[in-house]
Amino acid sequence: MTLKNKTIIITGASSGIGAAAAILFAESGANVVLGARREAQLNETVAQIRESNGNAVCLPGDVTDEAYANALVELAEKSFGGLDGAFNNAGTMGDMCSIPDMGRDNWRNVIAVNLDSGFFAAKAQIPALRRRGGGSVVFTSSFVGHTIGLPGMGAYAASKAGLIGLTQVLAVEHGSENIRVNALLPGGTMTPMAGDDAAFHDVVRGFHALKRMAEPSEIAAAAQFLLSDEASFVTGSAMLVDGGNSICKL
Ligand code: NAD
Repeated sequence: MTLKNKTIIITGASSGIGAAAAILFAESGANVVLGARREAQLNETVAQIRESNGNAVCLPGDVTDEAYANALVELAEKSFGGLDGAFNNAGTMGDMCSIPDMGRDNWRNVIAVNLDSGFFAAKAQIPALRRRGGGSVVFTSSFVGHTIGLPGMGAYAASKAGLIGLTQVLAVEHGSENIRVNALLPGGTMTPMAGDDAAFHDVVRGFHALKRMAEPSEIAAAAQFLLSDEASFVTGSAMLVDGGNSICKL
């Protein structure tokens, strides 16, 4: 029960890594506040957690909206009396295309969903964590844009690298307030974002030393560690959970 009695916001909780995190964190004793756009999926996860005697609430919304970041924090404080952590995990890949061919709209949308959302989340969450006397913030970044460049993913890579910069600055700005901030860098993970093309999955598996892709729960477990007191001396890190993707050249 490493997250016992901690109240934690999870965005992108309607599928993939975020949904796995919602279940895992609740099993670990957390009160979870779930965000994403799809209300039906969020409600399903809330019901599943409550059936197992866990505590969960949800609020559908768009992470590109600053008011939504504030509303999630308000919901956490109203429902559970305060906020202890956040897994800012919602993200989009956008269109796969080279930079010369990329439209401004795709660039703006990917940066808005993946990076502007981090700014809004931090602005809303840091004061709430301060009111609580400390806490932990985790942003889902990626191996793409950190240890590898993948063609067609320029906006995605820039947004995910931007989250690492944001993480570092937040960590130094708020370390003395007992607020830890880390970026989590998953390798290829079997979620809706990875699609259902078996040939593509085979290629992606080959990028990894472990020669497989991650299950969402394996990424959620690393986020759980960063949000728990077991990671009490971990801040400002870009933590690879990438199956050896970064060191694999064969
Ligand atoms: P996913 O598509 O299952 O999950 C993405 C989640 O983000 C969904 O819940 C979706 O509804 C939500 N979302 C997207 N845009 C949103 C918006 N504007 N407002 C609110 N919610 C929004 O995919 P996933 O793989 O679970 O992705 C989770 C995170 O992991 C993303 O940030 C992604 O970039 C990152 N990531 C994924 C992989 C991978 O291989 N799957 C690898 C590295 C990093």
